[in-house]
Order: sequence, then structure tokens, then C-alpha cells
Amino acid sequence: MSQTISSKRFTIKGIVQGVGFRPHVYRLAVELGLKGWVLNSSSGVFIEVEGLTPKVDEFIHTLLEQPPPLALIKSCQVEELPVRNYADFEILDSVEQEGHEVMISPDIAICDNCRREVLDPSDRRYRYPFINCTNCGPRFTIIKDVPYDRAKTTMAGFPMCPECAAEYGNPLDRRFHAQPNACPVCGPRVWLTDKHGRPVHSQVIDVLKSGAIVAVKGLGAFHQAADASNREAVRLLRKRKRRDAKPFAVMARDLEAARQYCRISKSEEQWLLSRQAPIVVMKSLNHPDIPGDLLHPGLNTLGVMLPYSPLHYLLFDDDLDLLVMTSANVSDEPIITDNHEALDSLADIADYFLLHNRDIFNPCDDSVLSCTDISTNIIRRARGFVPQGIRLPGNCRQESVLAVGGDLKNTFCLTKGNEAFLSQHWGDLGNYNNYLNFTVGIERFKNMLKVTPAVIAHDMHPDYQSTRWAMQHNHLPRLAVQHHHAHLASAMADNGLSGKTIGLICDGTGWGTDGAVWGAEVLIGDYREFKRMAHLAYMPFPGGDLTAKKPYRMAFIYLYQILGERAWEYARKWLPDLSQPEADIIINRLCRGEQLMTSSCGRLFDAVSAILGVCPINRYEGQAAMELEAIANPDECGVYPFQVKQQPDGLIMEVNSIWQSIVHELEAGVAPTTIAARFHNSLAALFTETVRLVAEQSGIDQVVLSGGVFNNQILLKLLVESLTRNDMKVYVHRQVPAGDGGIALGQAAIASEVTD
Ligand code: ZN
Ligand code: ZN
Ligand code: FE
Repeated sequence: MSQTISSKRFTIKGIVQGVGFRPHVYRLAVELGLKGWVLNSSSGVFIEVEGLTPKVDEFIHTLLEQPPPLALIKSCQVEELPVRNYADFEILDSVEQEGHEVMISPDIAICDNCRREVLDPSDRRYRYPFINCTNCGPRFTIIKDVPYDRAKTTMAGFPMCPECAAEYGNPLDRRFHAQPNACPVCGPRVWLTDKHGRPVHSQVIDVLKSGAIVAVKGLGAFHQAADASNREAVRLLRKRKRRDAKPFAVMARDLEAARQYCRISKSEEQWLLSRQAPIVVMKSLNHPDIPGDLLHPGLNTLGVMLPYSPLHYLLFDDDLDLLVMTSANVSDEPIITDNHEALDSLADIADYFLLHNRDIFNPCDDSVLSCTDISTNIIRRARGFVPQGIRLPGNCRQESVLAVGGDLKNTFCLTKGNEAFLSQHWGDLGNYNNYLNFTVGIERFKNMLKVTPAVIAHDMHPDYQSTRWAMQHNHLPRLAVQHHHAHLASAMADNGLSGKTIGLICDGTGWGTDGAVWGAEVLIGDYREFKRMAHLAYMPFPGGDLTAKKPYRMAFIYLYQILGERAWEYARKWLPDLSQPEADIIINRLCRGEQLMTSSCGRLFDAVSAILGVCPINRYEGQAAMELEAIANPDECGVYPFQVKQQPDGLIMEVNSIWQSIVHELEAGVAPTTIAARFHNSLAALFTETVRLVAEQSGIDQVVLSGGVFNNQILLKLLVESLTRNDMKVYVHRQVPAGDGGIALGQAAIASEVTD
């Protein structure tokens, strides 16, 4: 038997820090009787092992096959070394090196072991809100720099007590090198104050039960919490937040509690319990104990998350199992992360503040998603996902690309090699503070990834704040990307596709190459170029943003289109919000024929929602479309007639006959629930027919669906089914939002494409 000794060095890259990688390596090496060391550095984890050759082989084999649960190994380089006769196996101190390549882990929801300890009265961390271990806890939100060590986090100011230090130093402990390790003796603490910041000696659970609103400092931001079963508390929160319609997310004590309020599928359950712990939007059971009309007005869904930070366990008990947990901000302002800022700006909303003294460095909202039997639809990608990279397909340029995204639901994207790093959600950049956070975020991502972008990609829209930012950075080459091309590329990159692809892109607004506002487009393209093959027939769009906020105006424009002067007769019956003077102004503008034109799918949904009396005015973005989806009768199969017309510059999708049918049925007294369903069915049929024609003309059968309209589950499901029936390969978003929160990925993929 050969007793040869070998000595090897392994360089491992990926998500290998803050995930218990070194203790895992240590245990494995010691088990196999190997000597050497393991070391964290900013360019990866280095391991040198020395021992019997078969043991060294077994070591690396086992490590690659069974890494710690949260690790993600992306590469492993091997070097043979001369034997050095190490005396033992050691974990060496971290070193900083050029070319940082270690990825920061997203924040991770509390693990089962920590949950058990925090609920165990005999544990030294019983009810301690900052319990964590190498398998769970804060990461991205507290990390200021790489490599990931306590000194570079917001835990730097909390020296460990002897007990914590012993855990931290013991390779066999679950908390070995858990950077945020802490306990009630040495770690951060939490306290309750009144709205003036004066300490209060009540328990937070008691003030919640009394109906008070509590601002709670969490992992990535503050929440506003209130007892979700207390109608008066929820009403008060709506009133004080001046939020009259947008649904509130809730947090349920546990999965069993959540089941009382929602119908939960297997995949929804998996997401609820996942380490990302997002808000999962599910079918509400309209439980009589909670005020559904106040929690999710006009909708039949409820967004639910489970406690993901130990601090959340202080908020529930046997009698309180559901809380409103809405992000704490003032209207469109950024989420709040700082104690003083919270006390200053939330004093009119919250009665109490649950504060703590661990700083939030990187603000991060809760992520939001929904599930169908087809896919997981990420609506907002933030906590739990960011800053995990997304692999770009194809032949990528090696210089870094910065893509600055859109203006609403902004995220930006920075590439490093062939990976794209999408930022957390910044919201509407039209708000100056969101814009500031966006600019700070860019600097932080550059530092975290140790890259300097060589190219900036931005939307073609000249008035986006993100475009203006790009214009100011004129020392770098810039690339203007058409909005819907970015959506197409985003869906392609999301699915790792390459080659010419058909994109059905449906959204609210995007700057078109012809100066019109695009929004229901069939493109053929790849990462280099695109051609517009079809679009929804142009409609006049007088008043732009005003009309987007007031769907009844768009309904009137559609009515006028099919009925001419008789439109007012019907508008008087069905559009009570439209006054005669406003109608006259609109008609006047239409007759002059010099206004903006649009092919927006979002505006079409708005118009139908308004004419059915579902939602005449959008009080939040997408409200009219969401409420229209909510009322559609799922058992209804009817389809209205429609036309696809061949014009010299492409196919035109005509919806006039759909509108004629709707008007006719409204007059005949057909229920809005039926009409809403038939409208969805008709759009799906219209899009399917158009895509089928484009596929036939081009010989391409690969189709991606993108754009914010695909948050609509009914339309998405119908389309995937019908396109698949027509022998097409259909791809939907999986890792990034279909809406504008995902376009930075598309812009980055386009700018990264190597053109020869
Ligand atoms: Zn843990
Ligand atoms: Zn301690
Ligand atoms: Fe869009």
C-alpha cells in the first residue's frame, strides 16, 4: 500500500465567508488526520493540507461535494507543493489582498438551532434579539468592507465577553468565527421608548396588544408594527401613514398561524421557511378575525412573512399571532435605518419605538415574491437575495459594467467578470433621498466588489434621474439602452439564454425609439440589437403622467376612439370621476392630434379597470391592474374578438373590438367579474396570436416574457400555457423582477456583450 505523503494548496472562490467555511474545513482536515492551515483572504479561501495522498484526495472531494449549507463554491484551483511537515492544522488570521474576489453573503434568516436557543428559558441567550451563528444572521446589512471580519462590520464596537470569545475561537463550535456573535453580556441591546425617545418600562408585546403602533428597528430597516387583528390599530396606521389603498404586508408568528389567514401551497411554504424569508403574496382566506378590507383593500391576496430575525420573537406570543409589518418610511421617502431619524420622522405615525444599538450599514427592504405552479415571480429583490451574483451568459467583456436601471423601482447592476450584481431596491429616483441612496449604493458596491466600471449603461429616457446620473459621468463611455430591449435582455440573462429570441414585453411606460411611449411590444433581439416586430395599436396619451394616475381618463380616451362624440353619454354613466370640462379638454387635445402616443399595456389595464368601476384612480402604482386581476372570475373562459394587422413596419395589435364587446356587455348588464376575466383571456389570445405570427415569420421559437404587467398571474399563466401549446419554448423571470426592478440586469448584459 502506498504511503506517499502529498501537500496541496487549494484556492477556493465563491460565497465562502461568513458561512462557516473555515470551521468546516478545520473539522474535515482534523477528521482525516491532515495537517496544514486554512486562511480567509479578500481573494478567496486558501487551504494547505498535507498528509497521506488518499486522505488529501478524500479531503478535497468531500469539501467540494458537501460544502457547508450556505456556501457556494464557484471555483477551486489546485497546486502541488513540496512537503513542509506541518505540526498540526490551524486556522490563520485573515489577510487582505489585491483583487478581492470573495462574495458577501446576503442576510440569512434565523436558523433552527438559534431559534431553539432563543426560545429556551435555560439558554444564556434566551430571548436575546441578536442571537446568530455561522449558519444565520445579519451579513450584507452590517458589512462595511471585505474581507468579512467583525472589525469591518457594525459589530466592531461590541468586544466579545469571555464566553462569546471562547465560542468564536473554538473550531468545533457553531459560532466559530461567527462575526456578529454576541450575547446579553457583551452584544447590542434593545429598548422600548415612547415617541419622544424616553425609555418606557413596558413590554413591546403589551403595547402592541393595547393597539399601539410600534416602529421596530429590524435587520435592514425599520418596520411599523401593529396588531393585524385590531381593526382600529390598522385603520389608525393607514390614516397616520396617509396610505389609503396600498396593501400592508404582515408577519405571522409561525407557519401554523399563517395557515389560518392564507391558502399556502408547497412552494409558498418553502419560500416562507427559506433562509431568504421573503414576503410571500398568497391567496387570502378572508379570515373574519382580521380586517381584510383594511389590510389588502380591493385585493384577494395577502403578503405574509415569518419572523426572520430573533428580535421578531419578542413581538409574538400565544395571543398575538399576526402583525402588520410595513416598511417604515414617509410616503415615497427611503426606508429608515437610523434611531434618531426614526424618532424624528416617524413621531406622527408610531406611538412607541423598539430601538437597538447595532447600526444598519446597508439599508435593505424585505423581498417580495409570489408563486404559481409555473414559477416564482420575484416582485422585489432585496433582503436575503442581495448581493448574490447572477451569472451572465455568453462571452462577457472583462471590464466592469455599471447599469443604472430605470427610474421607478430602481435597482442598479454592477458586473465583475461574468457575474452581475444587482443592488437592493431604491424605489422611485424622482425622490431626492432615494436618488442619494442610489448614488451612495453605487460607491459601496464598487468598493465591495473592488471594481471600477469601464462603461455605463442607462435607459434611453432623457429625463430619468438614472440617465442624468450617467450623463454626469461623461469621462466613461456610455450606452443608451431602449427600455424594452433591456427587459428582453434581462429575461434572457435571467434564464441563461443566448441567440435571437422573441420578447413579449408588457409594461406601463418605456421611451420608444420613435418618441412614443411603448408598453406592449413584441421584439426580436439578443444582447446586441433588437427589432420591433409588433406593438399594441397606438392610443393618444394626453396628459401623460396625469392620465397614468387617473385611469378614468384613459378609459374615456378608449371610449372616444370607438364611439366618437357619443363617448360622453357612456362616460357619464360609467366614469363618474370624469367631469364634463375635463372630458372637453381631453377631446380638444385628441382633435388637435399633437399629443404623445402610447402602446402601453399598463394603460390598457387601467382603462378597463376604470370602465368597470373597479379602480378609476390609481392611489399606488399598478393598483387598477391589480384590482382588475383580483375580481376576474377564474372559471370564465369567454374571449372577445380582436385583430392583428400587418402594417409595413410590423404587426399592429388592435383592441377596438375588445372595447366594443366590453361596452356592449356593460350595457347588457354582464357582471364586471365576467368582463374582467374575458378581458384577460382576450389579451392572452391576442398576444399568443401575435407571437405565433412573429415566430412563423422569423423561424424563432424561443420566447421570453418580461415587463411589470407579468406580475399579473392570470395573464402569465394563460400565456405560458397557450404559447407552449403553440410549440414555443417560453421563459419567464426566475431570479430578478419582471418589472423595472430587473432592467438593470438587461442593460448590463447588453453592455457586457463582447462585439467583435
Ligand atoms: Zn443560527
Ligand atoms: Zn457575550
Ligand atoms: Fe418597464
